[in-house]
Amino acid sequence: MFHKHKKHSIQYYESSYLSGCDFLTHAFCTRLGGVSKEDYKSLNISFKEGDMEDRVLQNWYRLAMAFAIPVDYFLTLNQVHGDDILVIKPYGNYLPEEGTLNYDAIVTTRENLAICIKTADCVPVFIVDRVKKIIAAVHAGWKSTALEISAKVTSLFFEKYRSSEKNLLAAIGPAIGQCCFEIDEKEAKPFQKQKDHEAFLLPSERKDKWIVDLAESNRRQIINSGIPEENIDISNLCTSCRHDLFFSYRRSGGVTGRQLNFIMIKGEAPCRVLTIGDEHPHFQKKH
Ligand SMILES: [Zn+2]
Repeated sequence: MFHKHKKHSIQYYESSYLSGCDFLTHAFCTRLGGVSKEDYKSLNISFKEGDMEDRVLQNWYRLAMAFAIPVDYFLTLNQVHGDDILVIKPYGNYLPEEGTLNYDAIVTTRENLAICIKTADCVPVFIVDRVKKIIAAVHAGWKSTALEISAKVTSLFFEKYRSSEKNLLAAIGPAIGQCCFEIDEKEAKPFQKQKDHEAFLLPSERKDKWIVDLAESNRRQIINSGIPEENIDISNLCTSCRHDLFFSYRRSGGVTGRQLNFIMIKGEAPCRVLTIGDEHPHFQKKH
């Protein structure tokens, strides 16, 4: 179940499945409680959509304050609508060699790193190994959903971390619903190849158009990888219908802000150990 919460001015949703894990902090934020105006009203967290920089920064400070997480603990990606996954080690530098963050998913065991997904209709998906304490954040727009990004992230849990199916939990956040999302024949092609596609791809009343339920496609990808259905929580909020609560790219006609979705493994009280390269803090001289 998804429940609405409020901290300071910030209104957000939590999945009760993830709230039950005491090592986690997470939130699917609404657009409410920020300082941005007009198209970006009000909690826009993206610097790339034309909003004023100082307002976006103030929004980040409000988020940091509300969740008591320092601003520089939040990590956002470029989000390029692909299916590449960034795996972040528990220590050391996490920027990839090429220095860019052109990814649509992050997986990590690192503490005190709030991995973020920015959305305005796309599906934010969090996957958690509740025993091994591994988290993933996935940006599943229609292109990445067509590429089966959630299935790929789930496979990584099994292959890299040897996770057990029954220990994995997933929470699928607010996204554009099938009530408001139509695609054309060409865009529907990759979905027609997905297993159980009858459950999330329906012919539209309009000629050569299809209705797709992106959240349901991601849910099926996760179920088909072996995670029990009862371990998957899903929000039924449509970002386009609930334009009052969320930014919606389609509803706004393209000029709008982005809301924040983040998940973090809580760490010890912040102790900034400076590491050089990949040197593990464990090997540093103890005082
Ligand atoms: Zn809708």
